Amino acid sequence: MAAISIHPSVDNGIRPTAKDFAGGTLVCKCAQNPVEVTVKSQSAHNHACGCTKCWKPKGALFSVVAVVPRDKLSVSKNAEKLAVVDTAATIQRHACKGCGVHLYGRVEKTGHPFHGLDFIHTELSPQTGWSAPEFAAFVSSIIEAGADPAQMGAVRARLRSLGLEPYDCLSPALMDYIATHLAKAAGVLKG
Ligand SMILES: [Zn+2]
Ligand SMILES: [Zn+2]
Repeated sequence: MAAISIHPSVDNGIRPTAKDFAGGTLVCKCAQNPVEVTVKSQSAHNHACGCTKCWKPKGALFSVVAVVPRDKLSVSKNAEKLAVVDTAATIQRHACKGCGVHLYGRVEKTGHPFHGLDFIHTELSPQTGWSAPEFAAFVSSIIEAGADPAQMGAVRARLRSLGLEPYDCLSPALMDYIATHLAKAAGVLKG
């Protein structure tokens, strides 16, 4: 049986993070006048995501998505081609109207634990050295996008073989980060 395809950027092994990598550009898939985003930072918390909202290339079971500080990200070319996919969503995903690729997702709610972060897909970058994917989030959600529930054991085994520990929400580190933010906001935790 052929190995299950997770995402083209991880199926043949994960590219290592480059030390001292300081960012680069993200480019949409339009042949003419592509949208370009400039990121002046290394990415963090890169992971495979099984949710139905993140952009993924055709045929992929998962997206691969990371975060960068929002003040390090700017649209450098053809910004007029961008539109927000779902203005009601927590993450405002700015997609190219030409090719459908999501260039960045921004959390605009100031009280949200992820406010200040933009979500990006480093596979859109011609540069290499972005932080490597570390885990897989929202794995069970691929069923909502049409994956066969009977295949989930094989999908999780494949993720583990790639070094991407599968979780059905976010990783424990990120869940703790969110809970800490909420506990501080509620006054349960001081400092
Ligand atoms: Zn495009
Ligand atoms: Zn997602």
